[in-house]
Amino acid sequence: MLEIRGLRTGYGAIEVVHGIDLDVNEGECVALIGANGAGKSSTLKTICGLLPARDGQIRFDGHDITNRKGHAIVQAGITMCPEGRQVFPGMSVMQNLRLGAYARKGADIEEMLDMFPILRERAGQAAGTLSGGEQEMLAIARALMSRPRLCIFDEPSLGLAPKIVAEVAQTIARIKAMGMTILLVEQNSLMALRLADRAYLFEAGEIVLEGTGTELQTHPEVVKAYLGH
Ligand code: ATP
Repeated sequence: MLEIRGLRTGYGAIEVVHGIDLDVNEGECVALIGANGAGKSSTLKTICGLLPARDGQIRFDGHDITNRKGHAIVQAGITMCPEGRQVFPGMSVMQNLRLGAYARKGADIEEMLDMFPILRERAGQAAGTLSGGEQEMLAIARALMSRPRLCIFDEPSLGLAPKIVAEVAQTIARIKAMGMTILLVEQNSLMALRLADRAYLFEAGEIVLEGTGTELQTHPEVVKAYLGH
């Protein structure tokens, strides 16, 4: 579904992703793991049209989407649930959800409120007053409002308490079980590898290892550097 070949990207004079190849097949959950600064988020931003590709190609459903604008990427069926949630704090839960369908008419709000009952309870409340876990649920529901075919998650567990991280992982597993194709970036490597069918390990802007989630959970290099046991 998503095919990336020879992708290079960076900021100013500095290249931070050095020609990576990456695939996400329909219905798969693919995780990108690796240390801070390895280039995972920059890769996601480039897919979503938020950071220009300097070389290489990104194809989605066989169409070249390299360097298309953000709204065109959403219209093509790719939505990102951004790092740090980025809900609109002064707007209500309902208003945030409506904005999710702005670039691409999609899901029904009722459908989302059924899926995330906590958001129904908080429907009229300003998003900025929700807990971190509730804001993550809102960010996920808002992303689903555009009815994406590929949903991209950037660090969904960041800054959340362990119990809430488990809830977020369950939510992503639930979305996957619905048939959603998922690309996930996570510092929590164990969570990512448990959720993922396949994963790529990034180091200094390159992909150094690829395998199934299960394979990488027992790979000595991954265990030593990222799973800490
Ligand atoms: P993290 O988990 O910290 O987000 P990452 O693997 O996703 O790590 P990136 O965020 O893609 O890594 O960062 C890759 C490199 O690009 C890092 O060296 C980072 O300092 C640099 N970088 C990221 N954003 C910017 C920016 N807006 N301007 C300049 N350099 C940046």
